[in-house]
Amino acid sequence: MRDTWRRLLAGRWPYWLAKLYLKRRRYGCRALCSLALTGADQVRAWYRGERPVVWTTAFVPTELIYGMGIMPLAVEVIAALVTGMGLAPRLLSAAEASWYSSDLCSFHRTVMGGALLDWWPRPVALVASTHLCDGAPRLFHNLGRLYGVPVRIIDVPAEFSSEARAYVAGQLRELSRWLAEVTGRKFHPEGLARALDLSNQARSWLMEANRYRRSDPSPLPGQQALDFLWLGFMGQGGEAAAGIYRQLALELKARAEASGTGPSDRHRLLWLHLKPYYRTELWDLLSEHGAVVAFEEFSHVYWPELAPDSPWTGLAQKMLSHFSLGPVERRIEVIRQLVRDYGCTAVVQYGHWGCRQSNGSTGILKEALEKDGVPYLWLPGDCVDARTYAVGQTLTRLAAFLEMLEARRPPGGGAHRGERNGSGSRD
Ligand code: SF4
Repeated sequence: MRDTWRRLLAGRWPYWLAKLYLKRRRYGCRALCSLALTGADQVRAWYRGERPVVWTTAFVPTELIYGMGIMPLAVEVIAALVTGMGLAPRLLSAAEASWYSSDLCSFHRTVMGGALLDWWPRPVALVASTHLCDGAPRLFHNLGRLYGVPVRIIDVPAEFSSEARAYVAGQLRELSRWLAEVTGRKFHPEGLARALDLSNQARSWLMEANRYRRSDPSPLPGQQALDFLWLGFMGQGGEAAAGIYRQLALELKARAEASGTGPSDRHRLLWLHLKPYYRTELWDLLSEHGAVVAFEEFSHVYWPELAPDSPWTGLAQKMLSHFSLGPVERRIEVIRQLVRDYGCTAVVQYGHWGCRQSNGSTGILKEALEKDGVPYLWLPGDCVDARTYAVGQTLTRLAAFLEMLEARRPPGGGAHRGERNGSGSRD
């Protein structure tokens, strides 16, 4: 990116104008507007280089990064952001022109394309984790060479013993020393304690928001909920997340209470994995059939509260708690629980191209859910690369599935099992 563009992105006026535009845009809920404004602040801070920027991959505990006064940049989020702005095709082409195969995950190709074109805020270091995504550490090794910056990989074993916890906790403690060295920021236990507290507050408000999402009719469509992933991947431990989740929870509470006597959802879906971040007709098709994404596995709070007196063990436990880590039975159990809790009548898995960790268990998930009498659809697609989006095929598959759900509805309706106002037990 030319230096003039970098200067523009760091300037005051472009952000003032961008925020004016963001404030005037229409959002599904006010919390999404707050999220967009916070995102704009964060982007400006990256380009201004106010503090060192460390790039991370999903599930690296950003509490540690914020706790040291460093700014995290989660690469998956940045790929989703530029996809929403219609810029991904240019970056994908740049990566492919440098021999990054189109068989690789498009989140990664977009990030690499942007790095090759020098679009991104430059990192001082890169931190990836091995859990779930095999491609992420490899991408970071390549990026480290490209930018000439050091890379640290957190090795997360797929086992849940106290030894595994101690092993990851030791790496995190060591990571704090390493970050201090490569960024020049000192590690202060009080900084980390503050970040853990903010993370716990965010967790608590997200759980509260999720509680209202049990309501029927659903107060928040899943395609909007999946935009809050910015906070999930990059906001934990930061100042903004708790406030935005709080705003969301209060909005959903008001909606759930106001719609208590309204018509119920016809079909409530549980959504697995992420969504297309470009414009798509998928959501219109769902609503034409009276279907709503009532909940998504990525919005599920799967980790325990972080104890301030054992920060490393707590963060290690959080990393190890992810439901997709280890045997597929863990993910199946969580899916079953979410189907029950959110009154879902069917499950749709968005099959993002190139994502082994999510798609590898498709057949097993289908078998397990169908045994429970829960219809399941694997919907192949791509979250980022709209060039491969086979519109007709995707819509036809989804429409056929929705018609099958309709045919299974008992006469007189009432197939769903959601709560009327989200007042059930907590997440
Ligand atoms: S979608 Fe899958 S392959 Fe791509 S970054 Fe996420 S976990 Fe990795």
